[in-house]
Order: sequence, then structure tokens, then C-alpha cells
Amino acid sequence: MTNGIQAPRGTKDLFGPEFDRFEALERLASGVARTWGYAGIRTPVFEDTGLFVRSIGEATDIVEKEMFTVPPREDKGDDKSYTLRPENTAGVVRAYLEHNLHKTQGLARFFYIGPQFRRERPQAGRLRQFHQMGAEVLGLLREAKGDQPAAPYTAYADVILMAAEILSRAGLKGLKLRYNSVGCAKPGCRDGYREKLKAALSAGKEKLCGDCQRRIDRNVFRVLDCKKPNCREVSAAVLANVPQEFCAECRAQMDFVSPTVKELLPAGVEAAHDQFLVRGLDYYTGTVFEFTAEGLGSQDAVGGGGSYDGLIEEMGGPKLGATGFALGLERVLMSQEAAKAASPEAPAAGALVYVAAAVDSPEPYKLAVRLRQAGIRTDFDLSAPARGVGNHLKRASKLGARLAVIVGEDELKAGEATVKDMAGGEQRRIKAADALAEVKKTLG
Ligand SMILES: [Zn+2]
Ligand SMILES: [Zn+2]
Repeated sequence: MTNGIQAPRGTKDLFGPEFDRFEALERLASGVARTWGYAGIRTPVFEDTGLFVRSIGEATDIVEKEMFTVPPREDKGDDKSYTLRPENTAGVVRAYLEHNLHKTQGLARFFYIGPQFRRERPQAGRLRQFHQMGAEVLGLLREAKGDQPAAPYTAYADVILMAAEILSRAGLKGLKLRYNSVGCAKPGCRDGYREKLKAALSAGKEKLCGDCQRRIDRNVFRVLDCKKPNCREVSAAVLANVPQEFCAECRAQMDFVSPTVKELLPAGVEAAHDQFLVRGLDYYTGTVFEFTAEGLGSQDAVGGGGSYDGLIEEMGGPKLGATGFALGLERVLMSQEAAKAASPEAPAAGALVYVAAAVDSPEPYKLAVRLRQAGIRTDFDLSAPARGVGNHLKRASKLGARLAVIVGEDELKAGEATVKDMAGGEQRRIKAADALAEVKKTLG
């Protein structure tokens, strides 16, 4: 040891075989994200403190206790307070707005990989500098505007399925997906549920831990998150008696996401609706989710996320929805090691296929996911329920797609799809069930 100086508590030097495993996982994660049609983004490691207070929420553990903050230095003419990012969503949303991407490209799909910082009590699988890979879909039109229809719910399923794909390819064992709705900011949606929970939990208040007694008024959903046996017991009784009554939009979101995700999850991933799941951050609305895996002890989450339809507006942007996830790379590696899984191969960045939904149906989206799961780089428009074929083909050609797979009303009725060669222009109808084999054969 040099002069007794050690790495700070909760940080880790990475070298040797561990470095190689880490790098292989990063490559897998970005490879899958690209297969899914997402582009990379890197935002600064530190941001204005206000960004996190505003986005994550004042009454959260992160903002209350866990931020690494550098105070202002007014003597040096810098009156800003900076904070090392405790998570990456806030930075990505800030960048989306700062670069006017909501105006120039509307919907944006990003993935990121990098270090995050939380001043937690260090323990196994919980570092103060840890690494996350995540993805965000930003700019979903939540209500029809002029002749623009509202965005479908495909984006909410898309991020869950992409996360599942990475975890499954990483070789993790015992992968479980839990999901829930936390309601939204519309009057009578989350606020109604919150008041009912508050009243019911207050009745059993003396049985709750000190933190939870405080949470009833400050952030009642966090009580459901508490792992202490007494709190868990009170919450279970309350959840059994307080039905989730969310708005029509939140219900419709769940009615799409739940069956779609269950149908398309990679083999071996279990899925269940879990009303205890609320996730820690204030900004979530609608669907939230979490993945757990074997080999991590009692803190077995490897990642999660959810939709945050109010955050873009909250941060000064237009009324557009968003959704995303983050995976804890150290945790994924721990679970991977416990499963004795070999470092996975990242999908190769092959030719692009564009799947065009020319009819409002979940079928074209399912087809796109199946191509991606087979390692084929596939773009799919998450911003509209359906578009005209001409409009789709313009997009496909702009993206440099090699093939377009079109599903319109005719094709849907016949259980078929049209495969179009974007360079030569020839096209043919095939059975939808043969689409994967056909695409593979054509791409060679
Ligand atoms: Zn709602
Ligand atoms: Zn508690």
C-alpha cells in the first residue's frame, strides 16, 4: 500500500479477467441496443444539482441522503452547486431538450453506458461508484394533436423486452420480471390511489418502522417498498383492501404491455404483476418494472425502469411521454459469475431491416421483436400506431435499410407480410410466420 492511501470506500479498481468480463458485457449491452435501433449518448458525469432535485424528487433517499455534491465556490465566481450523477435519465432528458431534439427529430431512442454515483453505505453489490447501461425512448405524443395520432404503447413494452434480451443473453439464471402500474398525474389517477393508501396505512401506523411512518405523509408509495417484515405485513393487508383504480390511459397501457411482454419475453424469463413494486424515483408514471436474478442474495435486483410521462414537461419541455430502463452492470456480472455463464457474444452489427406497421395492430411490432431476438438489426417506428406504406418506405430508405417488411391491412388478414428489397425494389408476399427465415435467407 502506498502511504496508506486506498481507493475510496465503495469504489473498485477493475483489471485482469474482471476487466475483460466487464468489457464483454458492455459490448453485449450496446450490441443489443443497436440491434433494437437505439443510438448511443454520453452525458456529463456531473450536472447542476438542481437537475436531480427536480427530476428524482426531493423526498427520495437519493436526493435526501445519497448525492455527492460539490458546493458553490462563490469566491471563485462559480455559484453553481454540482452533483455527480446518481442516475442517467435526468441527464439524457436534459440533453434531449437542450439540443431541441423534440423539435428536430420528435421521438428519440438512446442508450448509455457509464458510471453513476451514490453515497450509500457500501455493501456487497452496492458500490458508491457503479456502472449502468440504460436506454430511453423520449418524445412520445400522449394525446392526439391535430392530425397526429397519439403514440401507441409499443415503446413501453420495447424497453422491457430489450432489457430482458440483454439479461437473457448475459446468461443470468432465475430471471424474473415484475411489473406494476403506479398511475399518472391526471386528477383522480395516482392521487386518488395515494389518498386511499395513506388512509389505510395510517390506520396501522404504529406497526410501521420510523422511516415508513414519515413516508406516509412525504411519499406513501415508498412504504410498499420497505423490506422490514412488519411494514411488509401492514402493506400486504392494505394492498389486499385498496384496489388500484387508475385512469383509462394507465389501464390501457397496462392492458397492452402485460400480454405483449409476456408473449415476447425470451425463454426462461418469468413475469408477474406485483403491486408492491413502486420503484424509488418520483418521476415514474404508469408502468414500472424490475428484473431480479439468482446469485445476488436478498438484494437481487439487476435493473428496472418504467415510464416517466411527466418528466419532459416538468423540466421545461413540451408535453411528451418517455420510458426507459437501467441495468446495474456490477450486479449483472455478479449474477453472471454465480451462474458460471461464459462471457456472451454481442450480436453482430449486420444489415438493417425496417418493419413497417401500415395497420394499427400489435402484430407488426411482434414481428420486429422476433427479428431482433434472432440478432437482426431492426428498426420499428414507436411514434405512431400506423403509417402509410409510402411514408414508411421513405423512413426505411433514410435509415439505410436493406429490407422492409410491411404489414398492412391485407397482409394482416391473410397472415402474411410483404418483403421489399430497398435497393432493387422487388417485393414479394410471404407467410408472416416465415418472415424470420425469409429475412435471414435474403440477408445471407
Ligand atoms: Zn393515469
Ligand atoms: Zn418500513
